[in-house]
Amino acid sequence: MRKRVVIMDQDQSEQTVETLNPAAQEQTLADLAPARYECAPCGYVYEPDQGDSSADIPPGTAFEDLPISWRCPVCGVGKSQFQNIGAGNVPSGFQENLNYGLGVNTLTPNQKNLLIFGGLALAVLFFLSLYGLN
Ligand SMILES: [Zn+2]
Repeated sequence: MRKRVVIMDQDQSEQTVETLNPAAQEQTLADLAPARYECAPCGYVYEPDQGDSSADIPPGTAFEDLPISWRCPVCGVGKSQFQNIGAGNVPSGFQENLNYGLGVNTLTPNQKNLLIFGGLALAVLFFLSLYGLN
């Protein structure tokens, strides 16, 4: 009997994550940010933030907005050879969550890694310094 209760609790908690989280229905920041596209033949990545100076494409131009005549600046294939590889280095999660969590949510993954491992290193140093007290 007791075991059964535990199983029900597990089911409920899974449902809670799926159904009671309205943010799950919305787009993540990665979805909203302009997607980068990679050239399949040569691996060149079109960065919307940077545009393509060799073809007079101003920074901020989405791949979808590139002229149909635009070609890979490296190998020269057309847009159809490019595949969506998602947005670049943007914070994960949802826009409305960014103000929670002591502001850490606004950090990009790289910044989070720096914070986490930098914090760990500091903790280790602090711990080691305790030995110095003897
Ligand atoms: Zn190419």
